[in-house]
Amino acid sequence: MSPAPVHCLSLHDLTSAEVQERLVADGLRPAHTRALWRALHADLETDLGGREDFLPPLRRWVAEHVGRDVTLDNPALTLGVSSTDGLTHKMLLRLGDGQEIETVIMGYPGRFTACLSTQAGCAMGCVFCATGQMGFVRHLRPGEIVSQVLQAQRQLRSRGEPGLRNLVLMGMGEPLHNYDAVMQALRILTDPRGPHLGPSRITVSTVGVVPGIRRFAAEKQPYNLAVSLHAATDAEREALVPINRRWPLAELLDACREYSVSTGRRVLFGWTLIAGCNDTPEQARQVAALLRGMAAHVNLIPLNPTSGYGGRTTDLAAAGQFRAILQEAGLPCTVRQRRGVDVAAGCGQLRAGGPPGL
Ligand code: SF4
Repeated sequence: MSPAPVHCLSLHDLTSAEVQERLVADGLRPAHTRALWRALHADLETDLGGREDFLPPLRRWVAEHVGRDVTLDNPALTLGVSSTDGLTHKMLLRLGDGQEIETVIMGYPGRFTACLSTQAGCAMGCVFCATGQMGFVRHLRPGEIVSQVLQAQRQLRSRGEPGLRNLVLMGMGEPLHNYDAVMQALRILTDPRGPHLGPSRITVSTVGVVPGIRRFAAEKQPYNLAVSLHAATDAEREALVPINRRWPLAELLDACREYSVSTGRRVLFGWTLIAGCNDTPEQARQVAALLRGMAAHVNLIPLNPTSGYGGRTTDLAAAGQFRAILQEAGLPCTVRQRRGVDVAAGCGQLRAGGPPGL
């Protein structure tokens, strides 16, 4: 079978309805679609040519089309590393055009969560983030996002573990900068006939792409929204998150309120704690005032080290004090457990081809 051209249609880019449309147009029946979809998304198949259970018309279709005008997304696992506590596993995946992305599997008691990438690199340039430090390369297609979940499921299955329960789109890239591909991937991943992940167990994060948040709200997307805040004044936020110049805090918070009102859900705010930069009691009081009256939860994330940023992480006592101030102000707040830092799989540490060290 000759290699498929890079631009040809990937079956992993399609919802089950779209796969059916394609197969029916080629003269096949809905039963063939169900078998194909099951092979891709339940059996995690990477080689449709070897499926002996396919009926002859479907086998002929596979032989005629796959690898010619139709392809599959099956990124090569070029590196897999586990943290020393064994709870975090980072996969380096090579895409069809050679670009590399990272996906992280995090184990919790009785459940697993995957952190997915949505772009190769990132255009947002957050100063403390390894992906931002590498710059933007390209958007991922829906199939390239879906295939990270399938690859994670293969890993878990090979270890006899239960499948993924939660997804967070907090890996490489800004999900709302690649809105259409991300939403198509989530339609595929929540399809009851396919991977069937629960929408309420999926969190889409953004550093504050306001038009994307407004669209997410207007479309009443059934997923959770996480917004990386990091500062409570425009001047401080601009120093950490350059896109704050384009969409300042007032606009960002208006869009968050719109989301909360239109979906009835709270917004999850992320706050990376950087010692001496954004972790003082005064800054905690400012953020409490900023979010007053909004259905919100604040996740405090002690900074993880990256080679391109000299900031230091906040110690646990200061993080606890910051949290206490928010809680006293009636704002639910947690300090995120640091995970996978020893294999550069923590928040803000993902970078294509990044070594286990930094
Ligand atoms: S924190 Fe997110 S949005 Fe910011 S540069 Fe890193 S990947 Fe991009």
